[in-house]
Amino acid sequence: MCESGRDSAIRLFSSPVSHVTARGAARAHDKSLHELSIAQAILDRVAVEMRRHGGARPSAVGIRLGEISGVDREALAFGFEALVKDTAWEKLLLDVDYCRRRHHCAACAREFAVLDFDTACPYCGALNTALISGDELDIAYIEVEEA
Ligand SMILES: [Zn+2]
Repeated sequence: MCESGRDSAIRLFSSPVSHVTARGAARAHDKSLHELSIAQAILDRVAVEMRRHGGARPSAVGIRLGEISGVDREALAFGFEALVKDTAWEKLLLDVDYCRRRHHCAACAREFAVLDFDTACPYCGALNTALISGDELDIAYIEVEEA
């Protein structure tokens, strides 16, 4: 599910580098602030899409959140709720599709889940494998209320 449709997803950040930087800058004490700013970015993005659709009302926003995206899922849900509370979007649902870290091995053409940061291929032992899932931070869909 996480691997499919990555290209059609609405990227929250134009370049993956920007969120790597944000992750690096996030220290333990401002961790929830980091998630709050991401929740705000999601809402801003939803607002843009709704304006584009003639002021439609969103009922749910689905995001894909990777295991190594540097975003804490609980803190994000908490920040999102805090932002929509007492607004017109109070009932807006945040649907998080949590994506486990997966790698692809070019040597044997197989995919595998990465556990405990061990990125070596469990099938053939190759050390040079490539990340294919787990760093997602995308909006997968926005559901609009029926008029
Ligand atoms: Zn392999």
